[in-house]
Amino acid sequence: MSLVIIGTVAFDSIETPFASSGRIVGGAATYASLAASYFSEKVKIVAVVGDDFPAEEIEHFHRRGINTEGLQIKKGRKSFFWAGKYRKDLNTRDTLTTDLNVLADFDPLIPESYQDCRQLLLGNLTPSVQKTVIDRLRNRPELIVLDTMNFWMDSAWDDLLEVLTHVDVLTINDEEARQLSGEYSLVKAAREILRLGPDTLVIKKGEHGALLFSGDQVFSAPALPLEEVFDPTGAGDVFAGGFTGYLAKTGDYSFENMKTAVIVGTAMASFCVEQFGTERVKSLSSEAIADRIRRLARLSNFSVADF
Ligand code: AMP
Repeated sequence: MSLVIIGTVAFDSIETPFASSGRIVGGAATYASLAASYFSEKVKIVAVVGDDFPAEEIEHFHRRGINTEGLQIKKGRKSFFWAGKYRKDLNTRDTLTTDLNVLADFDPLIPESYQDCRQLLLGNLTPSVQKTVIDRLRNRPELIVLDTMNFWMDSAWDDLLEVLTHVDVLTINDEEARQLSGEYSLVKAAREILRLGPDTLVIKKGEHGALLFSGDQVFSAPALPLEEVFDPTGAGDVFAGGFTGYLAKTGDYSFENMKTAVIVGTAMASFCVEQFGTERVKSLSSEAIADRIRRLARLSNFSVADF
């Protein structure tokens, strides 16, 4: 039984107030599958790249036990390219370039060996492709998690609303939740978004943590206070990969367990922001991950004995 992850596998160029990355490897599926691979031994990617994508990066997926049979390599074509620039506070980011390249006509391939998919993470990419992947799996996975971003709200609104009716969990950031719902208050936004299809919503708030909503239950997770944030790129995807990876490992989709999954996602994202690109999430020890999860638990643990 496997965890199938789709999304972009890409080149990025990132500018922060401290440094510029030049062209580095990124993409939603890259970040999410690396993060999930610390929890599930059966991560399988569906994505597309051009033949400009480095073979050693694909080798690294294999070293992490990630199956790339569903990663198509298009001869003579270029990989998806994204460039972004962070403002001084590192919370606000402007997209400078989105070159879809191979993503423009991506027809996702689902190898026969992926038909055992038990959990599906529809990472950030074209909403109609996210829907096609659901359609091409013979059995509906037990859990479908979807992540998206403002780019698709601006360019593929109807397709996004359609795929949302088929998923269990949506993970988006606060700005995207406001855009999707038309509500400024995140509580009102959550109420509106939960009417669109998903039973559960996670709103990621960067350095301010994350909110989990389901029915009338709410859980608030802090972010780990870090002395230095170097590059926030990919934190949202790493969160989604850690969150879904933990749910895949435990097979328990209760609200209680999703709370722990949010903490796991938060801990994984806290590593991601410490270095450029995928550098930090490429090689983590299970002890380092466990240590951050315990730190997060201590961070908001207090006594209510007097109340
Ligand atoms: P995050 O910082 O978690 O929002 O994710 C950043 C990653 O998303 C980068 O590595 C980009 O390659 C990728 N990305 C940027 N724009 C898009 C898009 N429109 N669709 C899919 N992936 C994207």
